[in-house]
Amino acid sequence: MDSLDVSFGYECDLCNTFRIYSIESSSDISCSKCNKLLASISKDYDLTKACPFCECTSYYKRKDFNQILGTGIIIIGAILSIIYNYFILMGFVILDILLFYIVPNVAVCYKCSVELRGFKEIDNLDHFDHHTAELYQFSNNNDLTT
Ligand SMILES: [Zn+2]
Ligand SMILES: [Zn+2]
Repeated sequence: MDSLDVSFGYECDLCNTFRIYSIESSSDISCSKCNKLLASISKDYDLTKACPFCECTSYYKRKDFNQILGTGIIIIGAILSIIYNYFILMGFVILDILLFYIVPNVAVCYKCSVELRGFKEIDNLDHFDHHTAELYQFSNNNDLTT
């Protein structure tokens, strides 16, 4: 890990407090509210290694902003375009495309949903895949035999 601006967005499984943690002096991440030790990040951690929060090894990437915002812009644009004209819709589509390129990707763990920012490997990840997600949901049940 050679960058200082990596951060971890994680919801504590004990008290459900969501916070974005960055690691500076200590590699241990403890919940800001209940002090539960959530993870210990090793110095050489990157996205090719297992998730420090749950030991899962699959991540996907998504845009680092609320996806509802993106679709919301299109819907508002569509409504306005009915009232006015389709040039407005075009404007919103361009805005959406611009956002797509400006907003960085964030890596998300399939199992514990930790959001990992600032890693070089994020762009190499695949987008969210339902089959992989189901796999990790099933693996929470002990009766999976494969
Ligand atoms: Zn907590
Ligand atoms: Zn995880």
